[in-house]
Amino acid sequence: GKYQSVGLVVGVTGIVGNSLAEILPLSDTPGGPWKVYGVSRRPLCSWSPTPVPAFEHIQCDISNPDDALAKLSPLTDITHVFYVSWSAHPTEAENREANSAMLRNVLAAVLPNAPNLQHICLQTGRKHYVGSFEALFKVEFPEPPFTEEMPRLNCPNFYYDLEDILFDELSKRDGAVSWSVHRPTTIFGFSPYSLMNIVGALCAYAAICKHEGSLLRWPGSRMTWEGFSDISDADLIAEHQIWASVDPFAKNEAFNCSNGDVFKWKQLWRILAEQFGVDFVGYEGEENRVKLEEMMKGKEGVWDEIVAKYELAPTKLNDVAQWWFVDAILGVEIEHLDCMNKSKEHGFLGFRNTITSFHSWIDKMKAYKIVP
Ligand code: NAD
Repeated sequence: GKYQSVGLVVGVTGIVGNSLAEILPLSDTPGGPWKVYGVSRRPLCSWSPTPVPAFEHIQCDISNPDDALAKLSPLTDITHVFYVSWSAHPTEAENREANSAMLRNVLAAVLPNAPNLQHICLQTGRKHYVGSFEALFKVEFPEPPFTEEMPRLNCPNFYYDLEDILFDELSKRDGAVSWSVHRPTTIFGFSPYSLMNIVGALCAYAAICKHEGSLLRWPGSRMTWEGFSDISDADLIAEHQIWASVDPFAKNEAFNCSNGDVFKWKQLWRILAEQFGVDFVGYEGEENRVKLEEMMKGKEGVWDEIVAKYELAPTKLNDVAQWWFVDAILGVEIEHLDCMNKSKEHGFLGFRNTITSFHSWIDKMKAYKIVP
């Protein structure tokens, strides 16, 4: 046929799904030319990756087994699956149940019906090493930098369930379909529909500070302000998943996936302030710790004013900014860093400059008129 590979991106409006949908159809992408199906629960928006001839959007609720079967089983030409989706629930028990069902529904629709299926990429994350949000810092975890062979923590985590479901389903196929697991840390990328988008939330916070004439205060710990951190660029994660899809040395392995450099948040805070033309303050001492969730409470109306004033793309503050997530990431009290040696040893030499990455995603937020 016209295409060498056919990718199913599950979660195409998400933070990594967006990058996959833009990168896969490019003419120089490994494994190409790629035909791409992109699945999301909601319709595409003004900011969504542009459906080009090689990108077909499928609106489907994968938590509903009938909908998943109806919409995904006809896609018999799929060769690769990129599973970059999840849904958030109040407890880890509910996360486990809901996210297990979503992955099972996709596999049940695709595995029996796509005879040319070769590989499935599953994206999980750093919480593989430190525990679910619920368990975070309550359960002991190994000393960073985290490496892939570190044993699972002895506490429930929906990431472990997703891995086990994938291994179990693929073992029934006698190795015909390979897998890879990708474990990014906090992701810098672009998606006003993501459940966790730290650049989006920080841009919204800075825009609100500018609008109200207030200072950009640091909502985090001393450790995060002054210590080393690492980040995963969404385009780099997409490149990592595409590499694992086509390279024989990457099959049936789990990999960390981070930029490959370290930075300090105090460096990025200055950039954020400059990008939005606001004055900032850094870490102000334990007694003056602030949380975005409290500072930004009730700002939905202010956001609507900003959207109207600057004629931005129509968004709701709750879609663009998840304050709890920023508080969780910036509030941690350890330097949690991972190690990219395994990826390099298997042949992936990709990297990003985190400072440049931060700038470029802010620029994209502005270019798509999500923020002024
Ligand atoms: P996201 O929240 O950015 O996007 C989720 C996508 O899944 C969206 O396209 C959404 O439409 C789709 N989706 C959700 N429920 C659906 C349903 N019922 N039917 C169809 N589509 C549905 O996703 P993400 O942040 O890339 O998360 C993927 C994995 O990466 C998760 O396990 C997450 O914990 C992990 N992770 C995320 C980050 C981060 O900073 N965002 C960092 C590390 C790890």
